[in-house]
Amino acid sequence: MNSKNNLRSIRLEISAGVLQSVFDECDRYDHHETGGRLVGHYELKNDTLVVQANGLLPAGPKAKRSQTSFFQDGEFQTRMFRQLEEQDPTIEHLGNWHTHHVNGYPTLSGGDIATYQRIVNHEFHNLNFFYALLVTRKLKGRTGLDRYVVRHFLLFRDDENVYEVEPRDVHITKGYVASLSSVALTEEEATSETAQHNEPKGSIAVRALDQAILKVLYPSLKPRLSKRTGTFFWKGNVVLIDGSVAAVKAIEVESEDELVYYPVVSNVSNEITKLCESPYKSAVEAVRALEVSMNKELYTSATQNRFWNIWKR
Ligand SMILES: [Zn+2]
Repeated sequence: MNSKNNLRSIRLEISAGVLQSVFDECDRYDHHETGGRLVGHYELKNDTLVVQANGLLPAGPKAKRSQTSFFQDGEFQTRMFRQLEEQDPTIEHLGNWHTHHVNGYPTLSGGDIATYQRIVNHEFHNLNFFYALLVTRKLKGRTGLDRYVVRHFLLFRDDENVYEVEPRDVHITKGYVASLSSVALTEEEATSETAQHNEPKGSIAVRALDQAILKVLYPSLKPRLSKRTGTFFWKGNVVLIDGSVAAVKAIEVESEDELVYYPVVSNVSNEITKLCESPYKSAVEAVRALEVSMNKELYTSATQNRFWNIWKR
């Protein structure tokens, strides 16, 4: 893709799930700026740049927020992005979103624009454009996708202008896509809530290792203890290759003096149901096995329905 000059128009397709996650995050950070990265795909259709924002990378545990500034946890996001990319090589970092409704500034600040221009002109930036979503206002008394006002901007390589996408060129799509934002954790939340009583032999070591790895790969998974049955399990979300989120668990079972973990997920195929009947030696392995199988199914169904190879770099 070349610069804006070669384009006739822009069409922005943003998934309702992405907007919903953005707004949920805005609800959580009512007084401080927040944001995240937007990921997805793009294509050129007859001189129209079609930007499809269908996933989010949360700000990350080390993000810094104030009323007038917001810094993301880049390391965390890069790790998450690599993970997505491994499974969907066509996924792109399209841009960022952040909020101004908390400070009332209705448009991108000079600092925002300078940052985005630096990114889009960087030799290692994959795309020749950068998409910026800005939340500018909270509408009292409104619900759902009407509760915030957003503006969409595009910046292009070698072009000093900032282009606002006209509302008529913004299309909210229904495709089930998801919020990686539910994966966002603060450091405090990520620390162990692991129960310290009635431990089967060896459980501390396995759980500690699980905790260390899950914290990096699946940060939304948290340790839980069923009060009723005393069962220990991990519960959280796994982000799949299409950006959707699956709620999963890994349930710990003591089996002949050793601990095993069974993956659990609902509404899945027979094949995955079968996989959930096999024990794994750690929660990480259980969740990973689930993730791989679910992605395989998503990929298979997508390749049956869509042209996948067109936009390979
Ligand atoms: Zn800003």
